[in-house]
Amino acid sequence: MTEIALSSLYQQLILEHYRKPRNKGVLPGATVEVHMANPVCGDEIRLHLQLDGEERVQAATFIGQGCSISQASVSMMTVRLKGKTLDEALALAARFTEMMHGSREAARDRKLGELRALQGVSKFPVRIKCALLGFDALQEAAKRVRSQADGPAGG
Ligand code: ZN
Repeated sequence: MTEIALSSLYQQLILEHYRKPRNKGVLPGATVEVHMANPVCGDEIRLHLQLDGEERVQAATFIGQGCSISQASVSMMTVRLKGKTLDEALALAARFTEMMHGSREAARDRKLGELRALQGVSKFPVRIKCALLGFDALQEAAKRVRSQADGPAGG
């Protein structure tokens, strides 16, 4: 497969997620909800996660608006999150961030699934923030869950 064909395939996948986002909507009974914005581009995401007692993601949904990169990225992310523990989810976020910073090794990692379609975005520094917005929300969500667990309401 030539590089041009590959990138147009990726382009299609991004547009497909943008037009038909997965897991879009509110999540009644969410464990944590995080709002993240990227004012440079006008992107907004509200991420909802429902976790079980072992920090495993039972459901992940989002509401958002903005460019195709930001919305496709968070849509793809929610697909990957289901069934993962918070640690696994954070490892995914780290891997995706590496890819956005140009790591070719990360771009070949099958764990990223459809998220690999966004690897071309790493060539456009202003758009990297768009692609990372969902993962920023995820990292913030993990932080909040864990700070709650440390408190008196935990357990
Ligand atoms: Zn954007």
